[in-house]
Amino acid sequence: MLKIGITMNLKEERNITVTKEYVDSLVRTCKEVVPILLPVITEKEVLLKMCNLLDGLLLTGGGDIDPKYYKEEPQLELGEINPLRDEMELFLILEMYRQKKPILGICRGCQVLNVAFGGNLFQDITNLTTLQHKQLAPRNYAFHSIKILRDTLLYKIFCKESIRVNSFHHQAINNISPLFKAAARTSDGIIEAIEGTFDFFVVGVQWHPECMQEDENAKRLFSFFLRECLNVKSRL
Ligand code: MN
Repeated sequence: MLKIGITMNLKEERNITVTKEYVDSLVRTCKEVVPILLPVITEKEVLLKMCNLLDGLLLTGGGDIDPKYYKEEPQLELGEINPLRDEMELFLILEMYRQKKPILGICRGCQVLNVAFGGNLFQDITNLTTLQHKQLAPRNYAFHSIKILRDTLLYKIFCKESIRVNSFHHQAINNISPLFKAAARTSDGIIEAIEGTFDFFVVGVQWHPECMQEDENAKRLFSFFLRECLNVKSRL
């Protein structure tokens, strides 16, 4: 049994939701997985117990992180923020890291990983690039290409120098955390994936592999993540 926590959204301050694709991606990848939806709470003693219970953490997509966490004031282009979700996810990330348990961050999840470890973000990339990062196309459509950097875990996972991915973001990583390295970029230089430089799996991707369940690369990413969770679990 592999207990994988999935972070959720808080909407209108009372509805806790998650997109079904995250759950399906995990369950379809490995029959051992028990997906555990993590409601938005901030009680530290409960969050600590969540981390003790879990074998791995999936950080899902969502709104923007409060820029106060990277020492900036909000700019005009900043989107919706959710203070409780920020607080919860930042705590979960640092505790899972302390316990050396695998983390996969998707879209916002990639960004919050970077912020949790001292990196910062572009609050809006619209005026920084002429490449489109908010596709008007089906969610599973591989929209722009990304270059996978050599000597990265991602290169080992995909065995390719370039792949095509979907894109639904208006923010991106600016300064990368000293504990991470860039693993993929678009042609405009925007960071599309990061990975931890430590000895267990912590990876963030800027795209949405959970919406591309027929995509070979998406399958490889989820398989690798869950294999890492199994390996860590068997060591503990
Ligand atoms: Mn993109």
